[in-house]
Amino acid sequence: MTFTVAIIGRPNVGKSTLFNRLVGSKIAIVDDTPGVTRDRRPGEARIGDLHFTIIDTAGLEDADPDSLEGRMRAQTEMAIEEADVSLFLIDARVGVTPVDEHFAELLRRVGKPVVLVANKAEGKLGENGVMEAYSLGLGEPVALSAEHGEGMADLFAALLPFEREEEEFDDEDEVDAPLAIDPETGEEIEAPLDLSKPIKVAIVGRPNAGKSTLINTMLGEDRLLVGPEAGITRDSISVDWTWNDRRIKLFDTAGMRKKARVETKLEKLSVGDTLRAIRFAEVVVLTLDVTIPFEKQDLQIADLVAREGRALIIALNKWDLVEDRQAKMAELREMAERLLPQVRGVPLVPLSGLTGSGIDKLMGELLKVYATWNRRIPTAALNRWLASVLEHHPPPAVSGRRIKLRYMTQPKARPPTFVAFCSRPEALPDAYTRYLLNGIRDTFKLSAVPLRLTLRKGE
Ligand code: GDP
Ligand code: GDP
Repeated sequence: MTFTVAIIGRPNVGKSTLFNRLVGSKIAIVDDTPGVTRDRRPGEARIGDLHFTIIDTAGLEDADPDSLEGRMRAQTEMAIEEADVSLFLIDARVGVTPVDEHFAELLRRVGKPVVLVANKAEGKLGENGVMEAYSLGLGEPVALSAEHGEGMADLFAALLPFEREEEEFDDEDEVDAPLAIDPETGEEIEAPLDLSKPIKVAIVGRPNAGKSTLINTMLGEDRLLVGPEAGITRDSISVDWTWNDRRIKLFDTAGMRKKARVETKLEKLSVGDTLRAIRFAEVVVLTLDVTIPFEKQDLQIADLVAREGRALIIALNKWDLVEDRQAKMAELREMAERLLPQVRGVPLVPLSGLTGSGIDKLMGELLKVYATWNRRIPTAALNRWLASVLEHHPPPAVSGRRIKLRYMTQPKARPPTFVAFCSRPEALPDAYTRYLLNGIRDTFKLSAVPLRLTLRKGE
C-alpha cells in the first residue's frame, strides 16, 4: 500500500536535495539550464520501511519572478491535488519569506494535509528559522537537513499516518460501496463492523494529565518508557494491546514526548505530536486532569479531533481525587455540552489511571463510539427523516425564493459524511445546515463523532 507525497516550496529551499535523499538515487539531477521546465517527476521513495510515491515540483519555477505566481501556482496546485499530503519546505537559514507565506496561503486554501518542513536546519544557523516556521500557521515544523540526512525519523513519524489514508479515507466525493441489501425487503441495511482489524487509539492530552500513567496501567507494564532510540521502527509508533479479545493499536505518545522533553526542557504541549497521534487514530481518548478540567488546550485538542474527523472520548482522569463525585459529574457534563457542541454527546468517563478503576468502562465506551464512527445510515431511512423535517421545518426563503432540498445520502462513514441535494446550495443558511446535522445526530444516535454535511446543487 502506498501513498503520494508532493514536495512544495520556493526555489532553492532544497526540494531536489530532499527528493534525491528520499528516492535514494540521483535521478532528480539539479538542472540549471535556464528556461528548461521539467515535468513533475514521480519517484519511488522510502524512509525506513515506509514506502511512498513522491512528486518533485523543483524546476517548475520560472526564473522570472513576475511569472513565478502563474506558472508555479498552476503546476504546484496540480501536484498538491494529486498528492495525499504535501511536504512544504522552507529554508530554516533564511527564515520565512513572503514567497513562503504565499505558498502557505495556497496550501491552506487547497485544504489538503500539509507537513511543514524547515530544511537546512543542521547546526545553529537554522534554529531561528525553525521557530519562525510556526508563524505560517501550518502546525509544528519538522526540522530537517536534507543534505545531511538529519531529522528523517521525525519526517517518518509525520508521514506515517498517511500510509493508511488511501485505503480507508477515500475521496469524499466518491460514493463508495453500497450498504448491504436486506434480501427480504430489498432495503439497504447497515453492514456489520469488521471486527478482525485492530482499532487504532491515541491517548492525548495536556502534559501531566496522566497519559503515560494511564497507558502503562492499560498495558500492565512500563514498556512505554523503553523504546528503540533510533526511532525509525514501526514499534516506536504503536503498541499492540488486547482488551476482552478486541485488538487495539495504541499510539505511543510517551515515546515522542520523551524526546520532546529533552529538546524543549519546559514541558509544553506539542501540537505536532498531538496532531500526529490524532491522525494515526480512529478513536481519540482526550485525557483531562479533573482537578483542572476543560482548559483552553483541552478544548483545542477536542476541536482538532473533530476537525480531523476522528471519534472522541473524554477520560476524566484522577477521579480518585474528587470528593463530591455527583456534583463534579454534573458540572463537567454541563461544561462539555456548552464548550464542545461540535461533538455533542461525547462520553465522559471517570477513571483513575493510577488505580486502574474505570478503564473497563472507558473501553466499553470506546467500542461504542468506534461503531458510531463507522455507521452507515441507509438512504431510505435518511430520506424518510428528511421528508418529515421538510414538512415541519422547511428551509427559509432567501431573497424571496424558496430553497428546495431534494434528497440526502451518506456516501461514507469514518466519520459519517452526508450529502444533500439542494436547489441553491450557496444560499442555504449555515444555521439550517447545523439544524440538519443536529437532527441527524439526534435521530440516528450519532453521539461523540464529528459529522460532515456537503450541499450539492441538484433540482
Ligand atoms: P530546490 O531549488 O528547492 O530544488 O533546491 P535544491 O535541492 O536544488 O537545493 C538548493 C541549494 O540548497 C543547494 O545548493 C543544496 O546543496 C542546498 N541544500 C539543500 N538541502 C540542504 C540542507 O539540508 N542544508 C544545507 N546547508 N544546504 C542544503
Ligand atoms: P502525562 O504527562 O500526561 O503522561 O502524565 P503522567 O502520566 O506523567 O502523570 C502526571 C502526574 O499525575 C504524575 O505525578 C502521576 O502520578 C499523576 N497521576 C496520573 N494519573 C493519576 C490518577 O489517576 N490519579 C492521581 N491522583 N494522580 C495521577
